[in-house]
Amino acid sequence: MKFMTAEPFRIKMVERIKKTTKEERQGWLKEANYNAFKIKAENVYIDCLTDSGTSAMSSEQWSALMLGDESYAGSKSFYKLEESVQDIFGMPYVQPTHQGRAADYIMAKLYAKEGKYAIGNMHFDTFRGNAEVLGAIPVDYVIDEGKDTASAAHPFKGNIDINKIENLIEEKGSEQISVVIITVTCNNNGGQPVSMQNIREVSALAGRYNIPVVIDSARLAENAYFIQQREDGYKNKSIKEITREMFSYCETATMSSKKDGLVNIGGLFVTRDEEVLQMAQQLAIVHEGFITYGGLTGRDLEALAVGLQEGCDQQYLEYRINQVKYLGDRLEEKGVPIVKPTGGHGVYVDGRRFFPHIPQHEFPSQRLVVALYEEAGVRAVELGACAFGSKDPVTQEPIWPDVETMRIGISRRVYTNSHMDVIANALGEIYKNRNEYKGMKLVYEGPITSLRHFTAGFELL
Ligand SMILES: *Cc1c(COP(=O)(O)O)cnc(C)c1O
Repeated sequence: MKFMTAEPFRIKMVERIKKTTKEERQGWLKEANYNAFKIKAENVYIDCLTDSGTSAMSSEQWSALMLGDESYAGSKSFYKLEESVQDIFGMPYVQPTHQGRAADYIMAKLYAKEGKYAIGNMHFDTFRGNAEVLGAIPVDYVIDEGKDTASAAHPFKGNIDINKIENLIEEKGSEQISVVIITVTCNNNGGQPVSMQNIREVSALAGRYNIPVVIDSARLAENAYFIQQREDGYKNKSIKEITREMFSYCETATMSSKKDGLVNIGGLFVTRDEEVLQMAQQLAIVHEGFITYGGLTGRDLEALAVGLQEGCDQQYLEYRINQVKYLGDRLEEKGVPIVKPTGGHGVYVDGRRFFPHIPQHEFPSQRLVVALYEEAGVRAVELGACAFGSKDPVTQEPIWPDVETMRIGISRRVYTNSHMDVIANALGEIYKNRNEYKGMKLVYEGPITSLRHFTAGFELL
């Protein structure tokens, strides 16, 4: 029944959030040097900084916590998690980690090679950081449509450009490529999905040259839902049938379970290769903890075993993806320029089209983050000139990124559509007055440019 689109849950416990005044928020912005990461969460009304680790757990998950087996080795809770992972990934081996980037680190140690290329659609920053430390060359080969924020025509804007992989193989030789990493969904360009056909074709091409394929699968269920809804031949398949097929095309998968795992901490390293598992376990013992807990408690493992299943629930996903679309639709009605189509975990506003008079070196998307918090107490995050800007290693001249957005990350099962309306109305008002805003100046940044957004300081121009 099409009209039944409300949340597939009822609320059993609530957490108070605080409305504040514009004057108060102006003071806190100043104290935070206009950096949203430095604002205290208690002073935020609706927090859309990230969808990571912010999910609300279900009553089933909270009761599973009590079953946590805190044994150092061979915990019952590990075996429950293993079964849940095998069911969804269709792969035999799992090493838990304390969060996704620890799984990224293990993966980078095993698959990124000094002086060799690591191809991705758009690499997630923590893998990119790990790969660069190891001397590998991460390259982003998302299709061109994936960089065009205004075009809604392509249903899978996270796809990898196969021609670009072929050209690199031709130019450098296949032995210069150590791994292909497919991130589902593609976070950096708007939570855009990758099609099954693309995963299949990338895997077939890599297989011909013996290049291993890894899937970075923080948002595996959201990607599977898009495949079911948008790709021919998947309408009648279940979410788990789709996830299992996705992972049938890779050797290894990593996951930050803080996203579709519906828990607040944790990560997974999953593989079908016994040798890879053994090496991953060695690294885990050194860096994370013993192989059956990997830096997590037994209760964390329990909550994740349940959360993974709930994250793949059809009714949950329908609600989830449609809530994000609801916010996107309200913003479009008000003329606010967003990345289209809306993706899985948030709405991305195009900073350059929102403030066309603010040049990229004056941080238009960061200005929008500041305006949104000032007007409505809503915290979003800049993914643009500050977060993705870099510097020429020789001349230190700034290099400005293709992507210039503000992400409104939507936490899972946390906010209602009334909260979405508050966000849409506030942005609509700011958009009406957009010509009154001027840009910003970066007055402080840390020594590592790729991490500067976490600690940067700004002034208003
Ligand atoms: C969040 C994320 C990570 C890192 O995971 P953490 O749990 O934050 O350490 C890696 N890859 C992708 C695609 C992610 O979204």
